[in-house]
Amino acid sequence: METRRDTKKIFVDNVPIGGQSPIPIQSMTTAKTDDVDSVVSEIRRLEEAGCDLIRASLPDMDSVKAIPLIKERINIPLIGDIHFDHKLALEAIEQGIDKIRINPGNIGSRKNVEKVLEKARENNIPLRIGVNSGSLEKDLLEKHGYPTPQAMLESAERHLKICEEFGFEDLIFSLKSSHAPLMIEANRKFSEKYVYPLHLGVTEAGTGWKAVVKSSIGIGTLLAEGIGDTIRVSLTDDPVEEIKAGRQILRSLGIISSGLDIISCPTCARTQTDIVPIVKELERRTEHVKKNLTVAVMGCVVNGPGEAREADIGIACGKKEGLLFKKGEIIEKIPEDQMIDRLLEEIEKFPEN
Ligand code: SF4
Repeated sequence: METRRDTKKIFVDNVPIGGQSPIPIQSMTTAKTDDVDSVVSEIRRLEEAGCDLIRASLPDMDSVKAIPLIKERINIPLIGDIHFDHKLALEAIEQGIDKIRINPGNIGSRKNVEKVLEKARENNIPLRIGVNSGSLEKDLLEKHGYPTPQAMLESAERHLKICEEFGFEDLIFSLKSSHAPLMIEANRKFSEKYVYPLHLGVTEAGTGWKAVVKSSIGIGTLLAEGIGDTIRVSLTDDPVEEIKAGRQILRSLGIISSGLDIISCPTCARTQTDIVPIVKELERRTEHVKKNLTVAVMGCVVNGPGEAREADIGIACGKKEGLLFKKGEIIEKIPEDQMIDRLLEEIEKFPEN
């Protein structure tokens, strides 16, 4: 891992982004924003999963008017996603939004831009400028032929120039693409030139494991290079899955350590206990666990005892049974059909750290 690059620290309500702050994980609501009960219940599930910042689309005034009703029932900052309409942005700030995702170059006249930036400044509301390779300006596409990292950088610079002309620097940037190498290179270019914090994401990544792999490569490569200050994994799925994937990316890079790390072997011809369903069930039933614990479930005595001994809790399986380890010591022998329950019991008993 390279040293994390230093960036400006921007506050979204009480959550800092950049300037070496912990990396917040974001997601986006999928319910209609003016359906307050549905949005709040979605956000509460996301909070429970570890979401630090939540964004909601604000396509109309009804959605904007829902902002205070949502905010009074949630515990994390609320970000508004606005396209083109400066009146929605002004009213969203009035209603207490904590950050706005809007591109100043798309708002219209300079007068409208000035109004939004003035109001954001008065209320300490940061903006995120989001460049997407799929919606680059026509002239940039003509100049570069297709969406290139340089074209994405130039698009970001256009919006930045407008903000800087008004002396507004409370900014976060994102340069997203559904193509991970393009997103990686565009963010590298931006971070070489600017100190604004970067929101990382591979946009429209798709569904399931393919999308998680694609996002992990895009986001993880940059984070390993020390680039990036907040992340969102975009999945065509329940947004809670985005938070799980985001947390796992940060955990895999050693950026966060909270939560259960389950180590299990791939199994092979030596396996005499079917650990695949055991591990899957264990993962499912420990999703909520926030304790920082390593649990190993290993298929045989070749590598099993070593890994199980190194973990906080571990099982090294033999023939339809396994040795249960706790903090490196063997504590008992357990039959295959009791492994899940015994592991859950030990995880529950393990002290918070
Ligand atoms: Fe095979 Fe044993 Fe290694 Fe698991 S731990 S992959 S069962 S050799």
